[in-house]
Amino acid sequence: MSILLGRVVVITGASSGIGEASALAFVAKGAKVVLAARRAERLDALVSRLGAAGGEALAVATDVTDADAVGALFDAAMARFGRVDVLVNNAGIADSTPAEETSLELWWRVIDTNLTSAFLCARAAIPIMKRQGHGRIINVGSISAKVPRANSPAYSASKWGLDGLTRSLAIDCRADNVAVSVFHPGIVATELGGGISSLPDDLVAQPEDAADVIVHMADLPDHLNFYEALVVQNKIP
Ligand code: NDP
Repeated sequence: MSILLGRVVVITGASSGIGEASALAFVAKGAKVVLAARRAERLDALVSRLGAAGGEALAVATDVTDADAVGALFDAAMARFGRVDVLVNNAGIADSTPAEETSLELWWRVIDTNLTSAFLCARAAIPIMKRQGHGRIINVGSISAKVPRANSPAYSASKWGLDGLTRSLAIDCRADNVAVSVFHPGIVATELGGGISSLPDDLVAQPEDAADVIVHMADLPDHLNFYEALVVQNKIP
C-alpha cells in the first residue's frame, strides 16, 4: 500500500502540464490534492475529472508570486483537509531572452514565478509540517539548473536559485522530519516545453513521465529523502 494513501498534497502550477499530470498520479495513489494556479476554470475542470476518478481535490485559484494569495492557499488547504503532507512547488514560466534584451520587469517576473513562489509556499508549509511532525517539499527545477540553455539568463538563474533554496531548506528542516528535495526534468512535452524545444513529442518526456518521478520521490517512508533527481530524455533524434 502506498504511503500516500490519505495524504494531502498541495501542487502549484496544477492547471496544465507536469502539475496536472501530478495531480492525477497522486490521486491514483489515494492522496487528496490541493490544486493551485491562476486559471481557475482549468483547475475546476481538473477537480471534476479527479472526482469522477474517485479522488478528492480542492481548487484554489492562486498567483503564487503573491504572498497573501499563498497564505490563502494554505489556509484553504488546512480548512478543507486539516493537514499538508506534501508540497510540490511546480509552477513556472519559461523565458528565452538574452540578458541585454531582458527588462528588469521580465527578470523579476521569471525570478518571482520560478523561485520566490517556492520560497513563499515553503515558508507557509514548513510550520504546518513541523507541527505535524512530518512533511515533504518537492521543488521542480530544471536541467537548466545544471546546463543553461542559450539565451536563458533569468530562467537559468531562477532554477539555479531553486537548487540553492532546496539545499538550504533540506538542511534546516531535516531535524523536524521535513524532507526537501528537487527534481530537474529535461524536456517535457507541455505548453512550456513545446515553447523551448523543437524536438518532436515522441523524443521528449511526457508530463505523465515527470509526474511518475515526482510521485516516486514522495512515495517514501518519512525518514528517507530522495534528495535530487535529474531525468533527461534518453532518445536522440
Ligand atoms: P506548463 O506551462 O504546462 O505549466 C506551468 C504551470 O505553472 C501552469 O499550471 C501555470 O498555471 C503555472 N503558473 C505559471 N505562473 C504562475 C503563477 N504566477 N501563479 C500560479 N501558477 C503559475 O509547463 P510545465 O508543466 O512544463 O512546467 C512545470 C514546471 O516544470 C515549471 O517549473 C518548469 O520550469 C519545469 N520544467 C519544465 C520543463 C519542460 O520541458 N516542460 C523542463 C524543465 C523544467 P496558470 O497559467 O494557470 O497560472
